Amino acid sequence: MFRRLRAKLTVLYAGLFCLALMLIGASASFVITRNAKTLTAAELNQVSGSFTRDWSIRLAHLRGVAAHYANNHDLPRAAHDRDDPAIRAGLSGLRESASADLAFVITREGLIISESGARSSVSPGLQMALANGEVTPGIMSFGGTLYQAAAAPISENGGWLIVGERVDNERVAAFSELSEVPMRVAILARGTGGWSGQDFNTSDVLDAFIDRSWRTPQVEPLRTGEGPAQALATPLPSLDGTQAVLFECASLADMLSPYATLLGSLIVIGLAGLVFLVASSWFMARGITEPMSTLEYASRKLREGVYEAVTVKGRDEFARLAESFNAMVTALRERERRITHLAFHDGETRLPNRAALERRISSAEQPERLYLAAIGVDRFDHVRGAIGFALTADLMRKLGARLARLLPHAPLGRLASDVLGVAFIATSEADALKRARALVANLEQPVSLGEHNVDVHVTIGLAPPAQKGETHASVLERASIALDQTRKRRQKAGVYDGAAYGDPSRNLSLMGELRRALETGAIELVHQPKYNFRTGVIDSAESLVRWVHPARGPISPELFVPMAEETGHIRALTEWVLERAVAEQKILSDAGWPLTLAVNISARLLGDGDFIERAAEIAGPVRHKLCFEITETAVIDNPVSALVNLELFAASGLRIAIDDYGSGLSSLSYLKQLPAQELKIDKMFIQNITSSQRDALLVRSTIDLAHGLGMYVTAEGVETPAAFSLLAGMNCDLAQGYLISRPVPVDELITLLSDERRLRFYKQTAAGAPNLAEARNDPKTA
Ligand code: C2E
Ligand code: MG
Ligand code: MG
Repeated sequence: MFRRLRAKLTVLYAGLFCLALMLIGASASFVITRNAKTLTAAELNQVSGSFTRDWSIRLAHLRGVAAHYANNHDLPRAAHDRDDPAIRAGLSGLRESASADLAFVITREGLIISESGARSSVSPGLQMALANGEVTPGIMSFGGTLYQAAAAPISENGGWLIVGERVDNERVAAFSELSEVPMRVAILARGTGGWSGQDFNTSDVLDAFIDRSWRTPQVEPLRTGEGPAQALATPLPSLDGTQAVLFECASLADMLSPYATLLGSLIVIGLAGLVFLVASSWFMARGITEPMSTLEYASRKLREGVYEAVTVKGRDEFARLAESFNAMVTALRERERRITHLAFHDGETRLPNRAALERRISSAEQPERLYLAAIGVDRFDHVRGAIGFALTADLMRKLGARLARLLPHAPLGRLASDVLGVAFIATSEADALKRARALVANLEQPVSLGEHNVDVHVTIGLAPPAQKGETHASVLERASIALDQTRKRRQKAGVYDGAAYGDPSRNLSLMGELRRALETGAIELVHQPKYNFRTGVIDSAESLVRWVHPARGPISPELFVPMAEETGHIRALTEWVLERAVAEQKILSDAGWPLTLAVNISARLLGDGDFIERAAEIAGPVRHKLCFEITETAVIDNPVSALVNLELFAASGLRIAIDDYGSGLSSLSYLKQLPAQELKIDKMFIQNITSSQRDALLVRSTIDLAHGLGMYVTAEGVETPAAFSLLAGMNCDLAQGYLISRPVPVDELITLLSDERRLRFYKQTAAGAPNLAEARNDPKTA
């Protein structure tokens, strides 16, 4: 209802004050009215008493006069003799001497003889009273006028003498002056139309009131034309049966009029008090609410993150509250500063963290040329294992400091425990790569940790500038992916390759489609032939899987095979390949080419007992014409079971080849233990064999080593005749690569195997002959 405390307090106080005022006013009015009523009742009773006393005195006087004249003087005799003139003379003398207003004689016959003459009838009331002898002095109506009268029997049975005095209305009214309460006093008599008298007209209310009082006279409220009043009707004794009352009436309004000033003053004082109270409560409320408003405003600001101190004067509770509030604001500000620092810094090295780097690059200038480098420390786990966690943190801190010196003001942060990130401006991808390589050179300078110098090797993955609508978080992610990709390529610096990475969400759905692809024939097997330098024929081939996706086209096995390994689909895929290889080996044998087919077996499957059983079952009768290619790392990851299973395969007559030799952690100890008959040197070395002396030397010594261990050697990735003839010269046993053929379906392989010219070309090349194209154009060879 109230939006402001000040208004609420003011209205509350004013309301309470008004209530108190009304209570005081009501009780004052009640007490005054009650007092007025009590006082009025007392006054009415007192006036009535005075009147009654006066009335009695006068009646006693009239009775005395009547008795005196009825027994003395000449009146009894004149009445006895019915000497009317004498009666009249007597009556006249009586009136004069006793100063009475009325005097007459009622004869024994009931005739009235007054000064003015004789009348025949007496009122029935009087007649009855006289007959009964109950001659109570009292009111009497005679000739339409009210009298106060008394009767006395005239001696010697001369009738009755009546003496009366006219009711003096002014005199009656004057009784009101005996009272301090203004009232009207009058004698009212019952007439044919009801009760009436001087200044009082007949009314039903008046009639009912007097009729009630007639039985039990007492002060009672009466509603008159002028308002509420208190009235008393006292019945008067009657001589002739005439009904009359002394009627007193005091208006309450008149009675209360002296108090009106008092009540008026009370109201004025009350109103003045109210105004004063409203004003003072307004100011007092302001005194309370102002500091509260200030605090409320400051709290609101605090909620919005604005730290504002408040100033409240004085030394009261509010001032102390303000002090506490200010202390709280200071503490909060400090805590927020610390939280923000923790949120944007790496606790271990105090370098800015990923969130800080993201924030910095979001506000960096020239975002369209901003490249982000993820700098990974190579073999981090080994380094940490060697120097401990504390020194590794120190190492990362020093690398961070070095980066900050090399690229001042560049956004920098620690992306992972072994990865630092830095953003810099470059004009092109080539420029970015150049800068990244320069960074590698600088960062790889030995780092001094205490007394020791530590050699550091780093790899840098670069994320190109963010595209429109791309988040900074995804740029950081791409830099990390680029780092992985660069490491896989065994380079020192490289840019993110989106095509190679693919879309993770799409890749996941791809796995769901893999099983279906195996059933629908979308997955095929191709074979890449191997040329045997010793026999001069193609006597084996590597079976490789191909997937042509209906929507995405050909998908590289380098993408889906690792994914199948991760998601557990590799077993189904490998079993399918094996079954297919067995079937196609038969086709080849039937066509007169009993080639040995090599199938790649994933590392994960070598430890799977069920798979081993199933593989042996599938290989079954053609196992002597099958070879399993396994990588060295497959054994390193799971040496015990892998070695046992490989022994089993070898014992059953399956050929084992070590694939991609030289690309991993080539270990002589495993080389010695593996029951392999063939060693395939990774294409990485073969491709540079003609250009790199080092690689040529490595290949040559590997061939010698393998021969020493009793193994055949296959060179992978033979693309050029020069490499081919060089390998032949190195005493290599087998060659596999695009020069011989790309992987092809089985029918194409059969056609290829039947191509005599091709075989001749291989032989010539092995012996240092010109390349295939030249050979084809050569009429002698054609
Ligand atoms: P890998 O076993 O080392 O297979 C040789 C890869 O080198 C094949 O790639 C082949 O096409 C490629 N290659 C052959 N000659 C040349 C050449 O002269 N130059 C170049 N640059 N490359 C050449 P592909 O078919 O893309 O397979 C890649 C890898 O995928 C394979 O490497 C193998 O590890 C895996 N893979 C392929 N098929 C299967 C399979 O059926 N099962 C399993 N577990 N892995 C497979
Ligand atoms: Mg292979
Ligand atoms: Mg290979």
